[in-house]
Amino acid sequence: VCANNVGVRREYAVIVIGGGHAGVEAAWAAANVLGGERTVALVTMDPTKIGVMSCNPAIGGLAKGQMVREIDALNGVMGLATDATGIQFKMLNTSKGAAVHGPRAQCDKHAYAECVQGLIAGRPEIEVIAGSVEGVSQGPKGQMAKGPNSELEVRVAPLARGGQGSDLAIWPFDHLVLSAPAVVLTTGTFMRGLMHTGEAKTVGGRFGEGAAQGIAAALRELGFELGRLKTGTPPRLKRSSIRWDELEEQRGDERPTPFSALSGGLWSQVFPRMPQVDCRVTRTTAEIHELIRANLHRAPMYSGQIESVGPRYCPSLEDKVVRFAERESHHVYLEPESLRAEHAEWVYANGISTSLPAEVQERIVRGMPGCEGAEILRYGYAVEYDMVRPHQIVATGEAKAVPGLFLAGQINGTSGYEEAASQGLIAGLNAARRALGLEGVTLGREEAYAGVLMDDLVTKTPVEPYRMFTSRAEHRLLLRADNAEDRLMPRAEAWGLLNDGVYGPSRRGLFARRRAALEGVNAVIDATTLHGKPLAEILRRPEFGEEELAAVLRERGVEVDGLPAGVLRTAHTERFYEHYVRRARSAIARQADLERRRLPADADYLGMVHLRTEARQALHRFRPATFGQASRLEGITPADVTLLAVLVGRG
Ligand SMILES: Cc1cc2nc3c(=O)[nH]c(=O)nc-3n(C[C@H](O)[C@H](O)[C@H](O)COP(=O)(O)OP(=O)(O)OC[C@H]3O[C@@H](n4cnc5c(N)ncnc54)[C@H](O)[C@@H]3O)c2cc1C
Repeated sequence: VCANNVGVRREYAVIVIGGGHAGVEAAWAAANVLGGERTVALVTMDPTKIGVMSCNPAIGGLAKGQMVREIDALNGVMGLATDATGIQFKMLNTSKGAAVHGPRAQCDKHAYAECVQGLIAGRPEIEVIAGSVEGVSQGPKGQMAKGPNSELEVRVAPLARGGQGSDLAIWPFDHLVLSAPAVVLTTGTFMRGLMHTGEAKTVGGRFGEGAAQGIAAALRELGFELGRLKTGTPPRLKRSSIRWDELEEQRGDERPTPFSALSGGLWSQVFPRMPQVDCRVTRTTAEIHELIRANLHRAPMYSGQIESVGPRYCPSLEDKVVRFAERESHHVYLEPESLRAEHAEWVYANGISTSLPAEVQERIVRGMPGCEGAEILRYGYAVEYDMVRPHQIVATGEAKAVPGLFLAGQINGTSGYEEAASQGLIAGLNAARRALGLEGVTLGREEAYAGVLMDDLVTKTPVEPYRMFTSRAEHRLLLRADNAEDRLMPRAEAWGLLNDGVYGPSRRGLFARRRAALEGVNAVIDATTLHGKPLAEILRRPEFGEEELAAVLRERGVEVDGLPAGVLRTAHTERFYEHYVRRARSAIARQADLERRRLPADADYLGMVHLRTEARQALHRFRPATFGQASRLEGITPADVTLLAVLVGRG
């Protein structure tokens, strides 16, 4: 496979570019499907940064927690790593219905990345290569051809640092050419990344790291339309310089809920594995807001230095002060980043993401109660990066114009670890399927948040980084954290994600146990009446909670404490929402034909003169795969869809 004295060529089934949250899940899912040895290459700029949390040291939250549970049900990595390294677990939104409860965990961020690296290193299927990908090109070149247009080539400039588990890192060469039928590109915030703190600009995708420069030009050459977005991060404070004990405490749950079905058993006998910590709360003040207003001209977002758009739902402090001018104070959560002695001083100041100049950041921090003497260990900054507008992919993550090239994560205009990981899993799964000559697979909006996410990406033009919310899911009563396995384990099984060597057998066994236990509990519920009323009916009353159900089950001889984790929650929630769920399911069934009916890939939408111009243009730009997707495009009305059905039927 050696090409010449300066270049080396290697072939894989799947190449994943980027070792962030998207890349990790992509490589893992591809490895699950493919098996074998060194079938997957994971090329990343610095293997010691695989699985790094770029910003907040937390996983999950509203809607995001549900996504992590889904990733776990599809045999992914994120739930395992979170359970192993969580230092504070908290179920959010518990004052509302179970459908919108959001599990969240703050993690030891260094332990998290190490855990992910350990998991990847344990997979013989995955070869980690340290290098910077400078280009992806289509089709085999010269005598390297293997089949008609079946290969993509990835050009890698090796970096000095050795790649874990890779012999390539010590080879003397100028570049590598890797080829595969499927490539997953996950560049995160690194594609032409540029960091800003006040007037100071540094090239890089994350503090202390470089940027990926060549790849943007390569994508433009392949015909992709790129955009530019920005995101930001707050300053990190030195714990011993904060009057920690005087600040209000923020505790985790007394009885933490794990993300992974494997926790408490095969994966982690003891859960939680790490000691649990408290966080603290402080706040901004009217004086701080005044200071920010006086310095807005020095904030890159407002001075014109940054022109790209940031996440509206994760605003910088300067954004908050401008947009919510009437507020005199915002909460700031002080979250320890790690328990390790060498990092134990690092505190993440959640809520004051900023790219103001260093001296202004210092005055902001010292204006917060309890932080009067606080030292900043790292200043906050904003990062601008290139992304690919996602109307150019289909819901499997595959690019429409370049078969075999999949895009996942922040590159598609999303923000957040969980959104990235979800896309990575779908793209890695489909990349592996492509390598095996199998059809692409997708999840429906009614099946998973991952389905909602992919569908939104291919039917909408994000004008700001896309973040998941429960409100984006029209069927959120079905997409709960507690029932992720019921929804997705059958998919994982059918799609080959339950690798026989890696947790697959245990997951299968646990799922069978869960289903049997649920059936047993449901049978008791159906056979029980209380004071002449069926228990199933009583369970719809809000005052009849899980504990009341547990008491009734105990009376009927069910060993409630021996039930698999989560079974009682699911049994209770499903009965409580029974009517709504039934109604949702019948609406889904009514829509199913339209939802799945395919549109021809080569339809001439611009030539469909009976359609309104706006509808023609939207259909031409997005080229939806199904009528369901077409109906969700901006600018398309129900009347347009009816007419489209006639026009397509006629054609
Ligand atoms: C400063 C900052 C602040 C953020 N703030 C928030 C926030 O407040 N809330 C939030 O939800 N999210 C935030 N994020 C975003 C969050 O980090 C990402 O959404 C998430 O990490 C995206 O995952 P990813 O896998 O797509 O990319 P990343 O985690 O960025 O990983 C990309 C990986 O690809 C590698 N790579 C890139 N290009 C190449 C190449 N050409 N060759 C080889 N390797 C390459 C990189 O080295 C890196 O390992 C922030 C990110 C940054 C940097």
